[in-house]
Amino acid sequence: MQEADAEFYRRIQFKTVVICDLSNPLIKRSDMLFNCDVCGRRAHRVSEWQLKNKSYRAEFLCRHCQHRFFGRVQFKLKYEGLIVKKYILPFREKPKDERPKDALPSDSAAQPHAPAKPSAKGTPEDDSPVGSGNPKG
Ligand SMILES: [Zn+2]
Repeated sequence: MQEADAEFYRRIQFKTVVICDLSNPLIKRSDMLFNCDVCGRRAHRVSEWQLKNKSYRAEFLCRHCQHRFFGRVQFKLKYEGLIVKKYILPFREKPKDERPKDALPSDSAAQPHAPAKPSAKGTPEDDSPVGSGNPKG
């Protein structure tokens, strides 16, 4: 087998891996830096990196123009090497949890406690024969 063929097979058998570990030595610190997309200056990261959809996302703030944005970066390890993709997403306020409250009817069990009826009707007792001792003979 020629070297070129071996190279070819190595290449097609290589599986692209998405790096989900920021401590990977292939990741450079400069890969994690973002510039403001408004004024072009270096922005400051103001949140922790969060892994989302195999890419990392963090909140950035430009101290020069107070522009806020999300920096997204994805590291793909291909056969050719590490591919770094960087995106800038517009900043949006965190969506508030405005769930429609399920108004449960709370008065379903609020019936007035019905007092137990006193049984005024006396039950006649059976006329049981008394003193039915068998005389032993
Ligand atoms: Zn800026």
